[in-house]
Amino acid sequence: MFDNYEKFLGYLNVKLQSFFEQQKEYICCKEGCSLCCKTGVYPISEIEFLYLKSALSELDYELRVKILDKISQLKKEKMQQGNDRNWTYICPFLVNDRCAIYEKRPIICRTFGLPYFLDEKIKVPSCLFEGLNYSQVYDYSTGQLSDVKFKELGYKQEPLAYNLSKKFLYNSKLAEVCNLNFGKDKALIDWF
Ligand code: SF4
Repeated sequence: MFDNYEKFLGYLNVKLQSFFEQQKEYICCKEGCSLCCKTGVYPISEIEFLYLKSALSELDYELRVKILDKISQLKKEKMQQGNDRNWTYICPFLVNDRCAIYEKRPIICRTFGLPYFLDEKIKVPSCLFEGLNYSQVYDYSTGQLSDVKFKELGYKQEPLAYNLSKKFLYNSKLAEVCNLNFGKDKALIDWF
């Protein structure tokens, strides 16, 4: 059922590995750092949800119940907030600062940490504002990654942004080759 999607993920992972390697001077991501899983909406498409659900079904009963309880609680909280689409929450799959379904995590979780293009603008990772990825080369006065700072600080590789938006990936040549139709996405907890 997931053959094509796993093929897509295989290619994407190779690309991401090379991007993270290329940008390693600016990347603070490390095991146990889960900041990007603590404030988000985590939009995912149906195939990503089904994949994540298959991972959930493989977990121990207790862990599964714990995650499903968190999801129910979050759904209630979201309702109390008037179902605001932009309401952020800690991802229910984050358990003891680790992703419980890491190998089957959604696409957005894989691309976290790198700057990317969206509607011809560069979006930077949110952890930048916590002093993490790319914070050394961010210019607050222009709101952009700074070529001047990168040169001044003597980094070898300039900070780059990549075509990694959902919009781009969902409609990419790779998705077409893998015969994938991602369709619409919605917040992770809204799929449950
Ligand atoms: S699914 Fe996993 S990687 Fe993605 S936000 Fe949740 S805990 Fe983090």
